[in-house]
Amino acid sequence: MKKSFVGLLLLTFVVGAAQNIIPIPNDVKLGNGKLSVEMIKSLRLSNDSLRNESAFLGEYFDFSADGGNTISLLIDKSIDNVQGYSLTVDNRGVTIKASTRQGIFYGIQTLIQLIDDKEIPFIEICDKPRLEYRALMLDPARHFLSAEDVKRYIDAIARYKYNYLHLHLSDDQGWRVEIKKYPRLTEVGSVRADTEGDGVPHRGYYTQEQLRDIVAFAAQRHIEIIPEIDIPGHSVAAIAAYAELTCRDTIIPVRSEIGVSLDLLCAGNEKVFEMYGDIFEEICEIFPSKLIHLGGDEAPLTHWGQCPKCQALKKEKGYTDDQELMSYFFGRINQTLLRHNRTALFWYEVDVPDYPRNAIMYTWRNGLTPRVIEECREKGYRVICAPGEFAYFDYPEVKSDITAKSSSWIPALPFEKVYQFDPCYGLSEEKSSHIIGVEATVWGEYVPDLETAFFRTFPRAFALAEAGWSKMSRREWNDFLLRTKRELEHLKSRKINFRQPQQ
Ligand SMILES: [Zn+2]
Repeated sequence: MKKSFVGLLLLTFVVGAAQNIIPIPNDVKLGNGKLSVEMIKSLRLSNDSLRNESAFLGEYFDFSADGGNTISLLIDKSIDNVQGYSLTVDNRGVTIKASTRQGIFYGIQTLIQLIDDKEIPFIEICDKPRLEYRALMLDPARHFLSAEDVKRYIDAIARYKYNYLHLHLSDDQGWRVEIKKYPRLTEVGSVRADTEGDGVPHRGYYTQEQLRDIVAFAAQRHIEIIPEIDIPGHSVAAIAAYAELTCRDTIIPVRSEIGVSLDLLCAGNEKVFEMYGDIFEEICEIFPSKLIHLGGDEAPLTHWGQCPKCQALKKEKGYTDDQELMSYFFGRINQTLLRHNRTALFWYEVDVPDYPRNAIMYTWRNGLTPRVIEECREKGYRVICAPGEFAYFDYPEVKSDITAKSSSWIPALPFEKVYQFDPCYGLSEEKSSHIIGVEATVWGEYVPDLETAFFRTFPRAFALAEAGWSKMSRREWNDFLLRTKRELEHLKSRKINFRQPQQ
């Protein structure tokens, strides 16, 4: 009787400890015993450069006294994955080893999730991500989010080992980044008269100084900011500011409605490439990321087909299809990025005949991902998986979450469905080696503020974090739900909004 009681206690301990970490680590060995947080009194760093990372321990541990147990943060070049880490907790203290500061940061995130009622279980963890790129996307173009809001969002997602935040900075409904050479982009392009006829003007943009501050804040949390300037479609806000950019010589306002506009940047106008060359020069100065997103999606060819300048270019180049103008357009803008040693990212469209050789593709359209993965493998492009059916976080978890009249088209994306997402689609390692990451997109049409962005993000971002980080063999829905429950308590304590999972 006594023996089975002890067994029950041990079992409780094993399950309890496994509940604590999202995304679940790939290799965990539990020991017998616990370390008291209050007994941890000293901190040892192998390198002074780890002060940035160790600062994230300050909220949980008091290192002001002498003696007691130690947390050691050690750069160890023998750990082969640049984002990987090892974490050991035993009666001597805590040791986190990694070959980079980023790996140390992830070890720290795991450690602070392990704290349970002022104790940390004895444990040995050896961990590394399944995919190198794990991102969320915000869309301040549709509804502006202040710089402080963006920083709050970054702070919330860093705990789950996301390493990129993609900012969709321009669209038909708004231009959100200060470009010093073209002030009308923000003077005119950052303001729209109303949203879907609500009669309320909407405005906002980030100064370059604010964006540099966001970049630095994110970098402290090992998150890289990827800027997106969408071309040649989704560009009405820029065209409203500089009408000469489009095929039609007509002044149009910043778009108030959702949906796709026929107004594109003109492919046959050298002024477009001159101006966008300058714009991307400034973008590259603001954002140190090697990755710059060029959008490239949903660009109807109607106006290019009717435009004398576009058609003259088509003839001059010997093109037989207007889609070849799209490849030409991307190639021209890509030249500017190459001068700055940057890589172009695109929302992949199956109709576009060619993308720049070095570019990275996002698969996003509902149902097309298996085809896009295969096409990109054949063509030699790296792929980031952001498929609508698993990773469009603007879709509500249940339909009734969004009541706007124009939203009848929008499908629901339940929490459990996101958890089912395998970004490599069950493919062999050979057939999926070009898949480098996952991204969930919080498109902004029905996300008017940060509270709503958080409501759409959590807890589904827990599921996506695990899809990007953890091996499929480590992932199990019921176990994940238990861990989710605890993390929701964390969000509550930070006053971060989330949607209660459906029972
Ligand atoms: Zn044109």
